[in-house]
Amino acid sequence: MQQPSLASSDLPVIIIGSGMAGYTLARELRKLSQQPIVMVCQDSGASYAKPTLSNAFAQGKMAEAIANADATKMAETLGLTIYNFYHVSHLDVETQTITIHPVLAADKQQVLAYRDLVLATGASPSSLPNLIIDQKTVFAVNHLDDYIAFQQAIKQLIAQKAGLVRVAIIGAGLIGCEFANDLMSQSQTAAHGLKVAVFDKAAVPLALQLPTSAGKMLQSALSEAGVDFYLNAVIEQIHTRASAQTASISAHPVIEIGYCIDDQPNCYEADIVLVATGLVANTRLAEAANITTANHSSATVLSHLPRTAQQGICVDNHLQTSAPHVYAIGDCANVMGSYMPYVMPLMNQAKALAKTLADPTAPPTSVGYPAMPVAIKTPSLPLVVLPVSGQYPDAQITWQTHPTADGMVMTAHPIHDPASLLGFVLVGKEAGKQRLSLAKQVADWLN
Ligand SMILES: Cc1cc2nc3c(=O)[nH]c(=O)nc-3n(C[C@H](O)[C@H](O)[C@H](O)COP(=O)(O)OP(=O)(O)OC[C@H]3O[C@@H](n4cnc5c(N)ncnc54)[C@H](O)[C@@H]3O)c2cc1C
Repeated sequence: MQQPSLASSDLPVIIIGSGMAGYTLARELRKLSQQPIVMVCQDSGASYAKPTLSNAFAQGKMAEAIANADATKMAETLGLTIYNFYHVSHLDVETQTITIHPVLAADKQQVLAYRDLVLATGASPSSLPNLIIDQKTVFAVNHLDDYIAFQQAIKQLIAQKAGLVRVAIIGAGLIGCEFANDLMSQSQTAAHGLKVAVFDKAAVPLALQLPTSAGKMLQSALSEAGVDFYLNAVIEQIHTRASAQTASISAHPVIEIGYCIDDQPNCYEADIVLVATGLVANTRLAEAANITTANHSSATVLSHLPRTAQQGICVDNHLQTSAPHVYAIGDCANVMGSYMPYVMPLMNQAKALAKTLADPTAPPTSVGYPAMPVAIKTPSLPLVVLPVSGQYPDAQITWQTHPTADGMVMTAHPIHDPASLLGFVLVGKEAGKQRLSLAKQVADWLN
């Protein structure tokens, strides 16, 4: 095994992960300092905007054209050393080293020493018990490579299959609904088209993000666009069976989805399945190094941040983990008790952390969060959601609804102070125009 050879004064900042969090931090840090930066990632290291993946069809984008730059270009532009296709297998916080190896050669280990380490390891899609995401017939998309495979499979099915290609999406959350809408736009342009069905155990789409009335409007809009919903549906099992080959059409498997609605068992046949049941933060490296994670911590949620899932690597307001010189940002991080796997939080985290890392002798910079709305990319019914701060349990919130030409503005207020704005749901294009003005009225989440 190769040992680290740099003198301690030359030791780099090492960033693990080349997603939006890793690259935003590298860009911000490079603006402030010429210090050595090393990036290690187990993927190709291509830089791309992940949100594009769920509206690429509507924008007529081929998956291969989504990346802005490959790892070589990024290394040149930002003056980084990039170990792409390298897996980080171990973190030693005592010796301040990580152990890495090429993804396809676990025996070729190398040890790299860091001055500061940033975990930007993202999250992985969750699945259902006993369901294997093989990225051949059953897909989950949380990376450009996943999407390239998914788009190719859809196109291949459209080319091969007579009649509609049946896509089943498991999960009617943000990703499931965005993909459903996007695939329908593909359906309108393709010769044969797609039949898209969305399954969820909840009674309305986006049940965790939207009040029921807004969820129902989204369901109607997507249904009108051609999406079939199977709600209150409990998935019992999903299995693949080979279909008969005919002289003209090559065989492709049929996926049988066994589900129950109101205890009534049923079966849906699909050609391809997209699993969109949520994310699990990648915390393995941190946990193995005894760094605190939210799943194993009883730390309370800071009251004015939105209530979120209890997961991720715990960091303080300086993005520092429980280990010295180790930080975490992006979809793997739980900042002050709040897990927010979206672009705006990671941008704010990267900017603050870059300032801290640029001058280790200066006091660290705290991350600031304005109230950050999330736009949901469902063109059939555009939505913007600003979640309510965790300070207010549901029972203390009152909602006001104002209809607009094509939807409504829903605003959340404390029962005892209806003039204060806590959060909102903007339904439709007209309401969406109020996004900035309303967000400015909500108190910063963290400053
Ligand atoms: C389809 C889709 C649409 C979205 N749309 C929106 C949107 O409209 N608005 C919004 O705000 N957010 C959206 N999001 C969320 C947003 O894209 C993410 O919050 C963001 O991209 C996360 O970036 P990240 O760098 O933290 O993680 P990732 O992109 O997951 O990057 C993680 C990196 O870590 C590397 N890695 C992990 N473990 C190791 C290891 N052991 N060794 C080496 N490398 C490792 C991986 O290879 C990868 O490079 C969307 C997400 C998806 C999937």
